[in-house]
Amino acid sequence: MGIQIKTLDQLRLMRKAGLIVGETLELMREAVVPGITTNQLNEIAVKNLSANQAKSNFLNYHGFPAVICASVNEEIVHGIPNNREIQDGDIVSIDFGAIIEGWHGDAAFSTIAGNKNADDQKLLDTCEESMWRGIAAGKAGAKLTDISFAIENYIRSQGKYGILREYGGHGIGSEMHQEPHVLNFGASGMGPELKSGMALAIEPMITKGSPVTKVLADEWTVVSQDASRGAHFEHSYALLADGKPFVLTAIDGGKAKLGRLGIEISELL
Ligand code: MG
Repeated sequence: MGIQIKTLDQLRLMRKAGLIVGETLELMREAVVPGITTNQLNEIAVKNLSANQAKSNFLNYHGFPAVICASVNEEIVHGIPNNREIQDGDIVSIDFGAIIEGWHGDAAFSTIAGNKNADDQKLLDTCEESMWRGIAAGKAGAKLTDISFAIENYIRSQGKYGILREYGGHGIGSEMHQEPHVLNFGASGMGPELKSGMALAIEPMITKGSPVTKVLADEWTVVSQDASRGAHFEHSYALLADGKPFVLTAIDGGKAKLGRLGIEISELL
């Protein structure tokens, strides 16, 4: 079908879904303390979806049994919430999405419960900043892999991290996963030109060691093969008719983080 181009009204619905995603992720971030279980985090998200009359795009996705993915330490993405208690110093990565009137939002963050090890915090900061650099590079008129290059280039500048190769970002709109696939590595200047009306979820996934992963017997949880700890950050953003971006799943639309990189966000939404 090619890359879906959204109208302003459709992007407004995606913003509605995205804001619910952003606000729910904040509720979960505050709740990540030693002793909580990932099932309890899932429960927070279930309640906030229903309070906002939003639907889950994760629940029943190819049989996935929860509304969030919760991945701890060497689990990088796609973990299934469970009753294991989070320990002091654990890295907790939460991925979450919502649907409003058929339009999707999708975002994720990693955080550290309790006492923060500086090395782990740098892993998270590197992953998050690479996501913002990717979004900043994904301007109207740029090529798709300008995003990929910006993400990899930033991560490489920060140390020897493994960038997952089998997973990446994606188009988003009337389905959670659409074309194009967005690699988190590679040369710039390739792939389709980015245009107004496109929306992409940008989601770097990195480890402190090898980029090689395996899927656990639950058929979902992706862990690093060398058991090194990982991080995952994600935002969904759109390019508006004025050629400027707007981060649909960020509470401030990306104003602060993109502003710091010299990118003005659109005021059309
Ligand atoms: Mg995603």
